[in-house]
Amino acid sequence: MERTNIQANRNNEQHSGYKVFTRPGENPLPLRTYIENARHIVILGHNNPDGDAVGATMAMYAYLKSWGKSSRVVYPNRYAKNLAWMDPDRIAVNFLENHDETAALIAECDLLLIMDFNRVSRAEGLAPLLEDKKAARIMIDHHPEPDKHWFDLGFSNTKISSTCELLYRIFHQELDPAFINPHVCDCLYAGISTDTGSFSYSCAHKELFTTIADLIARGLDTVKVHQRIFDNFAENRMRLLGCCLGERLIVKPEYQTAYMYLTDADMKRYNYQPGDTEGIVNYGLSIAGIRFAAFFTQKEKRIRMSFRSQGDIDVNLFAKEHFGGGGHKNASGGHCFESMEATIAKFERVLPDFYRNVISRSKPS
Ligand code: 5GP
Ligand code: MN
Repeated sequence: MERTNIQANRNNEQHSGYKVFTRPGENPLPLRTYIENARHIVILGHNNPDGDAVGATMAMYAYLKSWGKSSRVVYPNRYAKNLAWMDPDRIAVNFLENHDETAALIAECDLLLIMDFNRVSRAEGLAPLLEDKKAARIMIDHHPEPDKHWFDLGFSNTKISSTCELLYRIFHQELDPAFINPHVCDCLYAGISTDTGSFSYSCAHKELFTTIADLIARGLDTVKVHQRIFDNFAENRMRLLGCCLGERLIVKPEYQTAYMYLTDADMKRYNYQPGDTEGIVNYGLSIAGIRFAAFFTQKEKRIRMSFRSQGDIDVNLFAKEHFGGGGHKNASGGHCFESMEATIAKFERVLPDFYRNVISRSKPS
């Protein structure tokens, strides 16, 4: 594979490149040098690590391993069962279940590779441990508005499908593609396919499919990855989905909006496991005429909210303005510290204005 020209692809946020940032006035070392100099590397993914977070962190771990470098992977909490195949060595530790080991790894490390998130608050319970770290902090992420002061070096592209696609470019342009082995390819594809809703959004650029063609040439097995992620649910999860679609779906055609919710009791009834609600929000957009979908789940006193949209309807701004969250233009999340009834009432209160100002004015896709 031909090595891409670094200068041509750096500092452009088109699909072939990314922006590199550093603290104002500082002249960072190349990524390669940070990795070569590090003695203890920790790779960190965000809270509730999804396919892209686990894909990118495990791809980085496997890539470093094939380069001959050891590292550890840390998450604030556990990944879902259908993502566990990406961690065959079971090297990941999570803070919620293994407080002391996680704290020791973070205290000891001299390089933190932070993947698929861009501000310390997304590390949830782990955040305080990261604050007084002396380790170099490097961000690789595709979310908008990175907290640039917090990182020594950052690689960002907010137009790219996923952190995994960005990481593929970094392997080529900053490091060495020779270490991309078949398992790295499988992990990268897992992140790309989950973050694009199985190639339904954020994927309308030819560079992504060129990337996948190269991953196949390097040993990617697309059928295996798809089956492991999407055809690997417990029976209960399918019945949970049935409950959402059958009993918890509210459609508001006048606002081109559909939303679903699950209460604590619903989740207990179907023996909810982490990851079981992943992707359910997308079903709202499958309805003809619906361009904005939301999904609310209850976890003790907190309601988690997911938003998805079509075209240029910006749900990142919606999540930020009304529900203390953020994310991407077409996929975002937030939360509400009220009851499910109060959360739904608040959502319905802000919906007419969002329809008038944003949905009705957006171009149909
Ligand atoms: P999901 O609905 O799959 O949980 O999240 C969709 C997207 O929104 C993800 O890219 C995720 O990073 C982002 N997101 C979800 N929840 C939050 C939140 O509370 N704050 C911010 N800033 N982003 C979020
Ligand atoms: Mn992502």
